[in-house]
Order: sequence, then structure tokens, then C-alpha cells
Amino acid sequence: MKIKLNAGREKSLLRRHPWIFAGAINSVDEPSVASGSTVDLISSEGHFLARASYSPISQIRARVWTFNDEPVDKEFFRRKIKAAIALRNTQNVTRNSNAYRLIHAESDGIPGLIVDRYDNVLVLQSLTAGTEFWKETIADLLVEETGVQNIYERSDADVRELEGLKPVTGILRGTITNLQLPITEYGLRFEVNIATGHKTGFYLDQRVNRHHVGEFAKDRDVLNCFCYTGGFSIHALAGGAKSVLSVDSSADALVLGKENVTLNNLPAEKATWLEGDVFLLLRKFRDENRSFDMIILDPPKFAPTAAHAEKASRAYKDINLLAFKLLRHGGMLFTYSCSGGIDAALFQKIVASAALDAGTEATIIEHLSQGSDHPVSLHFPEGAYLKGLVCVKG
Ligand code: SAH
Repeated sequence: MKIKLNAGREKSLLRRHPWIFAGAINSVDEPSVASGSTVDLISSEGHFLARASYSPISQIRARVWTFNDEPVDKEFFRRKIKAAIALRNTQNVTRNSNAYRLIHAESDGIPGLIVDRYDNVLVLQSLTAGTEFWKETIADLLVEETGVQNIYERSDADVRELEGLKPVTGILRGTITNLQLPITEYGLRFEVNIATGHKTGFYLDQRVNRHHVGEFAKDRDVLNCFCYTGGFSIHALAGGAKSVLSVDSSADALVLGKENVTLNNLPAEKATWLEGDVFLLLRKFRDENRSFDMIILDPPKFAPTAAHAEKASRAYKDINLLAFKLLRHGGMLFTYSCSGGIDAALFQKIVASAALDAGTEATIIEHLSQGSDHPVSLHFPEGAYLKGLVCVKG
């Protein structure tokens, strides 16, 4: 099947960006083509541009598998999976953890596919019509190429709706008797629930940044906002923090957080867990004149796209402003945004205006990002979604 683009709409493909929006399409030669099947993208002048998956309902109507005139078949996906494994080997990703992202969608050449490895279990997330079409083939290949026998499916992300796909979860390959499993990160252990946890179970993208917090935590009073299962908290405790107060709105996440303290034989008396809304609690702490030596802000995605940027900017500014007020002189702020709709430059501006309005001097000592197992294709800058700043209050 062939899809002809409108004149001029081949430009993004020539830059090797993998998405074609509905408005770029001039004509489709077989209107009844099956969701997820493979189509050729043709320029208005009739030249082959790329081979892609077709999503008849999505605004992103086609996603490129290849810019070459080559078959898209099982061997094609084998090459992509092998390349993703080779990249993780180059990164030597297992030296610090047995849990990492094996396939990062567009940036590993498989738009719509996330595969995270938790020790001897793979968790697969299929987000698009194209990956749904090839899912069984991809599952077979993952077993063949990684040697991991167990695959759990977590295709329950909201974005599937945009593709007309229903949520699907459950065992895809092998036998998985325990859906909660321990993983190791820089020598620390964490319980991960692959069935009910956020994303595929754990925020793997923050691994290096969690370790980093541990390195600075000694003798500090730490406030970890949006703590989930205590990733940053456990690293801070292991790093010798004086006290760690962890806040999240999810009671289930806090239960695992407490278990993770025990699992690592860390001093439970130094750790406090608080269920609540960070926006309200930060105000309460300000009114109570509380203060900390280190604050971590790792909120959920406030701006999935640029359309949400304005409202999200206000939310980021609010929590960063309050955090600057609660920090002691010389205290450290580790602040993050995982919003695709807010780029690194805008995030820095928001944090700067938060410091200004808080009436504090602050210096950036580091710019942070997602771990290298979440690579970024140079042709798909959207892949770089996590940004972080380490600021010291002057
Ligand atoms: N730092 C964590 C990941 C944080 S993800 C780690 O390293 O594992 C964001 C977390 O924010 C989620 O656990 C979610 O439950 C929580 N959350 C979302 N909105 C919240 C709010 N308004 N107040 C408190 N927690 C919130």
C-alpha cells in the first residue's frame, strides 16, 4: 500500500524524523488497509521516502520503520533488537543495575515500543498500532535475542486510546509467579511491582540521578517530594542522610518505600513517610517555618505536549518557589521535569523565576538528564524528555 504526501510535507522525513501527521497525507491507495500494517510513504512527485506503520485513527498517521527500500519482517525487527542490546552493552548498563530500559521506542528505531528489563523478566509496553501489529513477533524475538524467558505486558498507558487500542496487561511469555520482584541499583535493593507499579514498575530513567543524590546526602536533612517507592530516599539514607522525609499521594507506593528501607537494612528511625499533596504540604511546611538541607522535586509529567506548557509552567514555578523558601542557606535543590512540552531552556527559566520570587540567590552546579539506557536519536529530539538541575541556595 502507498501513501502519497502533500507537496512539501516530505521535509521532516528528509531530516529522518519518524512521524507523519494526518494533515501531511494527500492520498491513500487502499483506504481499508489494516491498522498497524506496513505502508510506503511516497513524495508528491512519486519518489519512495520511507516504509512505515499505518495508524488509521491516530493524528500521527504513520511512523517510520525504515528510510530504506527493505522488507519489514521478522529479520528486520531482529536487527533492531540486536542493535538495542549492543548499545546497552556499549553503555555497560548492567555494571550498576540489573534493571534498565532495553528498548526506548523511536530512539531505538522501534516507534511505540518500550521494553524494560527487571532482572530475569522483561516488561513490554506496546503504544501504537504498528507495535501492536508486530507484538507476537517482537515477543518471540525478545526471548530469542535476550535469552530471557519471561515477558509481562503493560500496555495500559493512556496514549493507546489515541491509536484506538484498548489496555492489555498480563503474561505474554513464560511463567511469572511473583509480580513483585526485587531489583538492584548501585548495590541497593528495591521491590518493583511490574503489574501495578507506575510505567512498567519503576522510574528507571532516574537511576543515575538517584545515585547522585546519595553522594551528596551525608548529614543532611532531606525532603523528597513525589517520592514514589522511595528511590531517592533510599539512596539518601544509604548516603548517610541525617533524616529523610518522603512525600507522595500514592499510599501503595509509600508501603513499598517503607519495605525498601527494611530490605536495605537502613535506619528506619531516620525515615518519615507522608501521604499527601506536595502542593499543599510545601505550603504547610513553609507556614510552620520548617527547613531542609536538601530538597528533591521529581513531579509527574505536568505538560505531555507544548499545549499544556503554560499551566505546567505555573505548577513547576509554584513547587520550586516553595522549595527555595524551605531550603537552608547552602542547601541543595535537585529539581526535575519529565514533561515533553517543557524544554530544558524553559525549565531553567521557570526555576530562575522561582528563585527570584522566593527572594533567594541560587547557582546551578549541574544539568542532569535521563540515564543512557534511555538514549536519544539525533533525529528524534522529543526522546530527550527528562531534564534536571542541581541548584545551591546562596
Ligand atoms: N522520584 C520517583 C518517581 C516520581 S514519579 C522515583 O525515583 O522513583 C511521580 C510521583 O508523584 C508518583 O509516585 C505519583 O504518585 C506522585 N504524585 C503525583 N501528583 C502528586 C501530588 N500532587 N502530590 C504528591 N505526590 C504526587
